[in-house]
Amino acid sequence: MRAIRRSIYKSPAQLRLMIEPGLATAASLDAVAALVKPGATTLELDTAAEAAILARGCKPNFKLEHGYFHTVCASVEDDVVHGIPGDRVLQAGEIVSIDSGAISAQGWNGDAARSFVIDDPSRPDLVAARRELNRVTEQSLWHGIARLATAKHLNEVGAAIEDYIESQGEYGILTDYVGHGIGRSMHEDPPVFNYAVRQRGPEVKPGLVVAIEPMVTLGGADTYVRDDGWTVATEDGSPAAHWEHSIAVHKDGIWVLTAEDGGAAGLAQFGIVPTPIA
Ligand code: MG
Repeated sequence: MRAIRRSIYKSPAQLRLMIEPGLATAASLDAVAALVKPGATTLELDTAAEAAILARGCKPNFKLEHGYFHTVCASVEDDVVHGIPGDRVLQAGEIVSIDSGAISAQGWNGDAARSFVIDDPSRPDLVAARRELNRVTEQSLWHGIARLATAKHLNEVGAAIEDYIESQGEYGILTDYVGHGIGRSMHEDPPVFNYAVRQRGPEVKPGLVVAIEPMVTLGGADTYVRDDGWTVATEDGSPAAHWEHSIAVHKDGIWVLTAEDGGAAGLAQFGIVPTPIA
């Protein structure tokens, strides 16, 4: 056991090193977005994500997890997170969540996720419900990021996410899985909750880098792990969405490392302008 715990706060130089893997992660999700359509397999999405990460001089960091051999997790319909890419063929009307991550040559990590709803003109009500779930989940992430910009303590973020989701209707917010600090490891302290908790959490101050990742369902919040040992699915079979960004707090403000624009588009609605890391 290590006697001295590494600080959760990174130096400005370390924050700068997290820009590259963040952008590689974003590029991998852009590559996936272009391919999500009926007939595509989840393994094809995985292959495209890996190529995008390698093209930026980084490597897929999910492959560094013990016993995991893919670039992304691809979770379809009632699979929430940790779905394994394979020969599953995407169908019209499905929602698919893609979680991706990259590690730079210097050993710094990025982690992000997006969900996509595949259109099905023959089932407009089903598609509308999934699109609304997806919108609420993505927006809950932006509400969490916006709160991070002004928060004194980290756990204000989860309260903001929960408040927003509850204002939008009846949804399940997963509590079995939460966000995390990120840096030299993909998963570090502190945990980042997607709901209000009693503790205040660590101070939000320059050097804090977190992956915020709400996981939301159209039904209940209970999950189980499928027989493959990885895939997390909803107990009640309801479809789920998952959005994630890695965000740095620095002396001049916040910067979404896994967004090309640093989060400018998503944060505009809050009057928040992200500041590049100097
Ligand atoms: Mg994550």
